[in-house]
Amino acid sequence: MEASPSPVYGARLLSGFGLIPIASSNLAASAKVKGPHLRLGALHASGASAGLTCIRCVGRSTLSFMDFGYSPTVEQWRERVQAFLDEVIVPSERTFHDEVRAQAATNPWGRPPIMAELKAQARERGLWNLFLPGTEHGAGLTNLEYAPLAELSGRSPMLAPEAMNCAAPDTGNMEVLAHFATPALQERWLKPLLDGTIRSAYSMTEPEVASSDANNIATRIELDESSDELVVTGRKWWSSGAMAPECKVSVVMGLSAPLGERHRRHSMVAVPLDTPGVHVVRSTHVLGYADGPHGGHAEILYDAVRVPRDHLLGEWNRGFVIGQARLGPGRIHHCMRLIGMAERAYDLMCVRVQERVAFGKPLAAQGVVQEWIAQSRIRIEQARLLVLKAAWLMDTVGNRGAAVEISAIKVAVPEMATWVIDRAMQAHGGLGVCQDTPLPELYAQARMLHLADGPDEVHKMALARRELKRYASPQT
Ligand SMILES: Cc1cc2nc3c(=O)[nH]c(=O)nc-3n(C[C@H](O)[C@H](O)[C@H](O)COP(=O)(O)OP(=O)(O)OC[C@H]3O[C@@H](n4cnc5c(N)ncnc54)[C@H](O)[C@@H]3O)c2cc1C
Repeated sequence: MEASPSPVYGARLLSGFGLIPIASSNLAASAKVKGPHLRLGALHASGASAGLTCIRCVGRSTLSFMDFGYSPTVEQWRERVQAFLDEVIVPSERTFHDEVRAQAATNPWGRPPIMAELKAQARERGLWNLFLPGTEHGAGLTNLEYAPLAELSGRSPMLAPEAMNCAAPDTGNMEVLAHFATPALQERWLKPLLDGTIRSAYSMTEPEVASSDANNIATRIELDESSDELVVTGRKWWSSGAMAPECKVSVVMGLSAPLGERHRRHSMVAVPLDTPGVHVVRSTHVLGYADGPHGGHAEILYDAVRVPRDHLLGEWNRGFVIGQARLGPGRIHHCMRLIGMAERAYDLMCVRVQERVAFGKPLAAQGVVQEWIAQSRIRIEQARLLVLKAAWLMDTVGNRGAAVEISAIKVAVPEMATWVIDRAMQAHGGLGVCQDTPLPELYAQARMLHLADGPDEVHKMALARRELKRYASPQT
């Protein structure tokens, strides 16, 4: 339970320290820990020595410590992922793009042939389904342990995550199917997804309603008791991946109880894409990119689509619960990969500005360029630490306990990544905006992540509401 400040402490908060007293014995215990540990509430070091702790930390593992040093196991995984990137992924990027261009006219939504080879290589190296927390299908890594590996995969976002079977929206859908689908559905959809032989889509967003507010979702899911079927009717768009021939199933969110309580009106259902009534209408582009090799972003008309009742995921009218469960890990994975994208852009910038000479000296000698480099490093490090903190909280207190940090990284990390990639593009001049470097593609990815999984503004609203709740008096 979160602690609320009493009026007395509230006055103290206003005085500027954000601190409340706690038992000094707790602090004595925490003060003993030394070494490369980051103390939760380290920002409040002055308060800690005075026997105070931050109200933000009370009830949230006050005595725990974040240890962000990579364990020998994680180091070993990092070396393996890095070797995969250096030896296989990065050298394949040119072929990947050549193949995408070559099949654009005849097979725009198909995987380029090299993807099958990359997947085989990743499997052979044991770099498969690393995002899954359990050992049955994944490597048994915690979120904190997976973070640096996802970061590395983000350095080549078009190739590495899919090659390692760690790409959205499959990752979120696999977690949903693992937790909320019947054994029969798991056999039919989860197993081939884990195997990487099919792909999936997530259909929530609708063109007709502001979908950043999930309460607006209007696609109907109705139960036809006479046939024991669920009937899905509505129009979705931005169902990423659904144009691909390998995409076989969609997780659809719809309105099942229009008059129900606010968060108990929607359900989720698995819809095989070959069901009569599913019409894939077109794909939308992202800043001009079709995202063909990822199956585009489909607009889908679900025209009285009938599926057996057991295709319901979880409980009837509890789609919000599933949406929340799905988005926690999904959001953090995107953020982890964004750090890798920013690092790649940063590397390119630092190399380019030392080679390129203008006005008699390398660009790197210009103060403004040094400012970009310094700012980029500062922002990347800040963002990484926040992502690691969110991952650590998810591991220790759960997704709900990490809600503020998850919202925070969803805003801070795309902001950081677009800023860094933008500077890297600028430092490259005309080269930075053409197809000869990965920078424009990285930029498009980072930019769209200000929207996908919810716009920045909504995450800020959610964060602010949670924060304000802790300051509200009991009467309000
Ligand atoms: C590349 C890409 C991939 C996507 N993939 C998927 C997918 O696989 N499945 C899926 O279902 N969806 C997907 N989406 C959709 C995405 O989740 C939505 O676009 C997003 O949630 C916003 O919904 P909307 O487009 O309806 O915008 P709207 O809800 O119309 O919002 C428009 C704008 O209003 C502002 N706004 C909204 N609420 C507030 C607020 N409370 N305070 C201040 N400002 C506010 C924000 O600036 C927002 O961008 C994807 C989107 C993109 C761009």
